[in-house]
Amino acid sequence: MSTAPTTAFPTAIAGSLPKPAWLAETHKLWPKWQAEGTELQQAKLDATLLWIKLQEDAGLDIVGDGEQSRQHFVHGFLEQVEGIDFEHKVKMGIRDNRYDAMVPQVVAPLRLKGRVHAVEAQLARAHTKKKLKFTLPGPMTIVDTVADRFYGDKVKMAFAFAELLNQEALALQADGVDIIQFDEPAFNVYMKEAADWGVQALERAAMGLGVTSAPSGRACTTAVHICYGYGIQANVDWKQTLGDEWRQYEQIFPALAKSSIQQVSLECYHSHVPPHLMKLLEGKDVLVGVIDVASDVIETPEQVADTIGTALQFVPKNRLFACTNCGLAPMSREVAQAKLQALAQGAALARQRYGA
Ligand code: ZN
Repeated sequence: MSTAPTTAFPTAIAGSLPKPAWLAETHKLWPKWQAEGTELQQAKLDATLLWIKLQEDAGLDIVGDGEQSRQHFVHGFLEQVEGIDFEHKVKMGIRDNRYDAMVPQVVAPLRLKGRVHAVEAQLARAHTKKKLKFTLPGPMTIVDTVADRFYGDKVKMAFAFAELLNQEALALQADGVDIIQFDEPAFNVYMKEAADWGVQALERAAMGLGVTSAPSGRACTTAVHICYGYGIQANVDWKQTLGDEWRQYEQIFPALAKSSIQQVSLECYHSHVPPHLMKLLEGKDVLVGVIDVASDVIETPEQVADTIGTALQFVPKNRLFACTNCGLAPMSREVAQAKLQALAQGAALARQRYGA
């Protein structure tokens, strides 16, 4: 199934954008909010609108809410889940002990308290005519970012989360979201488990999406984002240990190629991923990371177009999207804004070079 873009190399961000200083602490992955109550709710929505405008001004083809309403891409979802104790967070090594995080604990059967992202999704939909992408954490990555005191079985818990994700995803589809992307950085850490059950759990989370007979009459595209993490020091250090060739994708992509998920967002520019691994995603749209999120240096349009040119050797032109390597949340606002412009200008240059 092709999602048939109308322009070559449509541009999008992976998901998150920096929060303005009046909304939350800056340059942090788990920032503290600067307000509370209704004031905080309003500030989150104001920041969402601001970033939609800036993404449009930069010239992006697909826009998102920049994850302005969630403190962190995983915990934002968990806050609306019953059965999780947020009062007593515990320290846990996550992503195979790459770094420690304070995580909430699963203490009872999981159930959604209600809608998770309705307000910001509906606000975004009402204020842009561009394609709208919305991100949710993938089941395997959630399981790796929460402490289990109840299920005692990773796979069982992942499928429990997948059901809840599916409920929210179907509701987002009905809200008019065009693309729902599940973020699964954990796939790049637990490759065998990802192929064994992670992709299946992901398909459970995406069940019923993209079906035109959906009750709302709307069908959205499904995507998964798999990266080597945010540009934080722990990830930069980890990447140093991965050697000259990063071949993690080689173990996951064949399972994804067989799956029902339509788009795959991956890390490319400045990574050590052999570009030919993109060939393993035959039949999928490929969102190629052409913007480095671990460096404040702004890419030139030429560099972005060069990366697109490299990817074109392995991905058909009508399947290639230009994207960021990962979210931009921990960066400065100015840098993020300049990178959005570089992304759009680079894709425009690639259209000239390689033909629209
Ligand atoms: Zn990422």
